[in-house]
Amino acid sequence: MNIAFIGLGNMGGGMAANLVKAGHAVRAFDLSAEALARAAEHGCTPCTSVEEAVTGAEAVLSMLPNGAIVKAVLTQEVLGVAPKGAVLIDCSTIDLETAREVTLLAREAGYPMVDAPVSGGIAAASAGTLTFMVGGSDEAFARAEPVLEPMAKAVIRAGESGAGQIAKMCNNMLLAVHMIGTCEALKLAEKAGLDPQTFYDISSKSTGYCWSLNDYTPMAGVGAASPADNDYAGGFAAALMLKDLKLAMAGAQGAGARVPMGEHAKAIYEAFVEGGGGAKDFGAILTTL
Ligand code: NAD
Repeated sequence: MNIAFIGLGNMGGGMAANLVKAGHAVRAFDLSAEALARAAEHGCTPCTSVEEAVTGAEAVLSMLPNGAIVKAVLTQEVLGVAPKGAVLIDCSTIDLETAREVTLLAREAGYPMVDAPVSGGIAAASAGTLTFMVGGSDEAFARAEPVLEPMAKAVIRAGESGAGQIAKMCNNMLLAVHMIGTCEALKLAEKAGLDPQTFYDISSKSTGYCWSLNDYTPMAGVGAASPADNDYAGGFAAALMLKDLKLAMAGAQGAGARVPMGEHAKAIYEAFVEGGGGAKDFGAILTTL
């Protein structure tokens, strides 16, 4: 297929490379010359504009920082420029309102569109093992699914337009709460006089088990390997977790849902990021306890 890929950063770069590996012709555009050069090394055709990238495209993927950018790129540079009927797949994590709005605008302009945010970080993007949570019509999903497959461990239809973003914001709010709780439990065990590794051995096989404890243990030298073993470098940046929590809080407000633990988690990450910890892995909350 002819695929246009817009936004070749930490995530998009690896994703586009996997589309090339699967035999697709990928025309790539990013504002960053460096990102574009890396994409070219992986077999993408570098383009000098979105317009050039979407020429002849059957599918247009975007992996961009936020909703405002997604809306601007789509409405100003894709709709009416890409061939009519091309499927538009936005994999960025953005607010629910914008996700629904751009899909509606795309549909009106003659393009089926899905929101398809991902779970799994930069490593999963490179390895082609992301989980895609997809919102859109049956027809749009049927068009998007085979395009997503080479980048995926799982492609799951969440529901109608926006449902992918709902799944993403709920998942990451839960992850933030689990992670903070895991940090607190490990630290409490240690301070109260229990070897944290012993606590891990017990709780990871008890009702405290969760991904943050079992698979991404946020204490150096304890349990599973994680960025904690590398002074919280790499991994999932606290600033990105804060971004996701802000989206979840906006979503909760729009839906009239009470999320006291989510709000608390957002306040904790906000303080951590304001204190200069934004680039550290989100498990670094442990260092504040
Ligand atoms: P990034 O900042 O590394 O990449 C974004 C890219 O978009 C950059 O290369 C930037 O130059 C480009 N860009 C910005 N505006 C543009 C425009 N107008 N036209 C073309 N290119 C433009 O970010 P990332 O980590 O790759 O994240 C991308 C998206 O994926 C975000 O929505 C993020 O929330 C989501 N996400 C990230 C992770 C992660 O672990 N990094 C995990 C899951 C989801």
